[in-house]
Amino acid sequence: MFWFGFLGNTHIPHRKNTAGMAAEKIAPPGEVLLPMSQHIGAPATPIVKVGDEVKVGQKIAEASGYVSSPIYASVSGKVSKIESYLRPDGRTVPAIRIVSDGEMTLSDDITPPEVNDLESLVRAVRESGLVGLGGAGFPTAVKLEGVKKAKIDTVIINGAECEPYITSDTRTMLEESDLIKEGIDTLKKYLPDVRSFIFGIEKNKPECIKKLKELFALDEAVRVATLPSLYPQGGEKVIIYNTTMRVVPEGKLPSDVGCIVMNVTSLAFMAKYLKTGIPLVERSITVDGSAIKNPKNLVAPIGTPIRALIEAVGGLTEEGGKVIFGGPMMGQAACSLDEPITKTTGAITALSIKESTEPPVTDCIHCGRCVEACPVFLNPTVFSHALGLEGKDERVARLEEAKLGLCMECGCCSYVCPANRPLVQNNRIGKAEIREYKAHLIELAKAKEGR
Ligand code: SF4
Ligand code: SF4
Repeated sequence: MFWFGFLGNTHIPHRKNTAGMAAEKIAPPGEVLLPMSQHIGAPATPIVKVGDEVKVGQKIAEASGYVSSPIYASVSGKVSKIESYLRPDGRTVPAIRIVSDGEMTLSDDITPPEVNDLESLVRAVRESGLVGLGGAGFPTAVKLEGVKKAKIDTVIINGAECEPYITSDTRTMLEESDLIKEGIDTLKKYLPDVRSFIFGIEKNKPECIKKLKELFALDEAVRVATLPSLYPQGGEKVIIYNTTMRVVPEGKLPSDVGCIVMNVTSLAFMAKYLKTGIPLVERSITVDGSAIKNPKNLVAPIGTPIRALIEAVGGLTEEGGKVIFGGPMMGQAACSLDEPITKTTGAITALSIKESTEPPVTDCIHCGRCVEACPVFLNPTVFSHALGLEGKDERVARLEEAKLGLCMECGCCSYVCPANRPLVQNNRIGKAEIREYKAHLIELAKAKEGR
């Protein structure tokens, strides 16, 4: 399939209040909670026990599969508990709680990795604990390893940052451009078949576009693509199409069309890790929203409770609204301010009671706005209708036929719906139903074979 023009056509307010604010490092929190699943793939396996003393950057959990990622202590102190943690998506995973000694003593094991080919680069990136810092959480090493299996000619650096409020990638582009350049040089060295590096940045960040254009002015392999400020430019399929005009078919990966997509902060972190050997133990994070007193960009240890971040920006203007991991379009609501930030939390958005009160849902008026808004040309009303069908077989067949798998849960359909219908929420329910149905079929097949 081929379209003309850009994908993505929903105007949402940008509210980039913190774009001009350099990230401030917060004081170490009293304790951190590190869930074993902060990435796509198998949860990590704890390798410490209650009572162990740990230092910053010490490995505390091992990756437990090919698609997995290790976890490192983000503060120095003592492991106080290994407990169950209920993630915002409803899954329960083990988590390691560390009481900080306030010292932030660095582990003696830290040493820059030796990298001299693609194999050793992938190994180093896997050990660094790096996963997609833009929110996707896919282990970066697995992406880089894909270069060996597929013919990759293009690396797209995602600097779109299209959600309202969030500016942590903006600050990376402005404050860490040297690391971004080093990251590109590393990829050029070890991915020799890649001919093109394309930064995709929304045009509402002119200072980032200018900075990167100047930085790579003499480099013909690097292009800075100015994307329209239309949500969701940062969606993987959207940014691939809008920078290369390549279409990732349903069920396929970016590597199937010769691309890998890397978040700009992930790229800068990779370069920093190769120099210092300090694994992923902290991240930059925007704390903003209508209920935040003094919005800021912060740098905080992974596992820091939301409460500590909100205190660091002067507190809330009112209690009782909604606090979200990420931005208001794709983020997930936190149940409590004691929940920790993870590797993929680029923002904490706190909304006022007024903004977070759901308006009443009314009947669909068949206006078609949700269809117009969908960046991948789906019809969200079909999914909602399919969920109402009687039999599970029929429901799943209809959802698959209508290509629910293509939905990137961007929320554009819900945002534009005048009847306030929970369209993206229905899509998530539909996806869960398909997953369960397939898992059930696999179990049945195994039972039949007597396995
Ligand atoms: S949430 Fe899914 S169906 Fe709705 S607009 Fe986004 S991609 Fe389309
Ligand atoms: S936007 Fe809302 S009201 Fe309009 S067709 Fe879609 S679901 Fe129905």
